[in-house]
Amino acid sequence: MRARLDHLVVSALQQGAAVPAFTCYDFTTALAVVEAAEEAGRGAILLVAPKTAGTANGLRLITALRGLADSAGVPIAVQLDHASDLRVIADAVAAGADSVLADGSSLPYEENIALVREARAVLEAQGHADVVIEAELGGLAGDEDRAFGADVAGSSAQGAAGLTDSAQVEDFVARTGAQLLAVAVGNVHGKYKGEPQLRWDVLQDIAVRTHIPLVLHGASGIPAEELVKAAAMNVGKVNFNTELRTGVLITLEAETGPHRADGENLQGLLGKWNASARDFAAGALSTLTK
Ligand SMILES: [Zn+2]
Repeated sequence: MRARLDHLVVSALQQGAAVPAFTCYDFTTALAVVEAAEEAGRGAILLVAPKTAGTANGLRLITALRGLADSAGVPIAVQLDHASDLRVIADAVAAGADSVLADGSSLPYEENIALVREARAVLEAQGHADVVIEAELGGLAGDEDRAFGADVAGSSAQGAAGLTDSAQVEDFVARTGAQLLAVAVGNVHGKYKGEPQLRWDVLQDIAVRTHIPLVLHGASGIPAEELVKAAAMNVGKVNFNTELRTGVLITLEAETGPHRADGENLQGLLGKWNASARDFAAGALSTLTK
C-alpha cells in the first residue's frame, strides 16, 4: 500500500524501530524486498539510484516499483536516492517516486540549502507538493553503486568527507524544510576499510537539535548490534545497498553453472536471486525492529 515516507518512518520510530531502505536496480530485487516486508508485517523503502532514474528505462522501473508498492500488503515507499539534478528529480516523481533525497551534501552549505529549496519549488510547480524530501548534511565518502572500500568520514586520509556539523542542523532543517535528514557520522557508502567506527556522540548531538527523523546511509558492514541502537537516536531510516548486491552476486556466481546445465534454467536462477535478496531484506527488517 502507498505510504508517505515520513509517516512510515515516524510511526516506526514511535515503536522504537527504524525502516530499512534497499537500493533496487531491478524488479527481481524489489519483488524480494516487498515479499520480505510482507512476511515481516513491516514497511520498507525501495530506493532508486539517480543513474537508474536518469534513463528512460529507469523511469519505467520507477513506475513498475510504484505499482508494486501500491499493491503490497504493507506500507512501501518509493524514493529517488541521492539526486542533485532537478530534471532527474522531476522525472522520477512524474514516473511514480513519492519521495526524493535532494542531495547537496557535496556542495558548500548555502548551495546545499538552495538545492533542497529548488527541488521543493520544482515539485510544487509540478503539482507534487506532497512529495517527501530528505536532505543530507555532511558528506559521505565512497560510491553508492560500486564498492571499493572507502575511508571513514572524518579521518585524515585523502578525500575523506566530513562529519555532519551538529551546530548547522537546526538552521539547515528550518531553511530547507526537509522532512528527513541524512547524516554523516562515520558511515560510508560501499565497503568499510576495517571496522566501521560510528560516532554515536555526534549522532546524539544531532538528534537533540531536530525533531525530524535522521537517516543513516551506508549501513552495509555496520554490525547488527550497532544498528539496533539507531532508533534510540531518532534514526528512523537505514539505507542498505552493498551487502544486498554482494549476496546476489555470490549467489549468481555459484548458481549460474548448475542452472545452465539444468537446461538454461533462467527461471530457476531468478528464484535463487530472489531468495538471496529476500533473506537479506528479512535480516535487515528484523535487526531494525529489535
Ligand atoms: Zn546514500
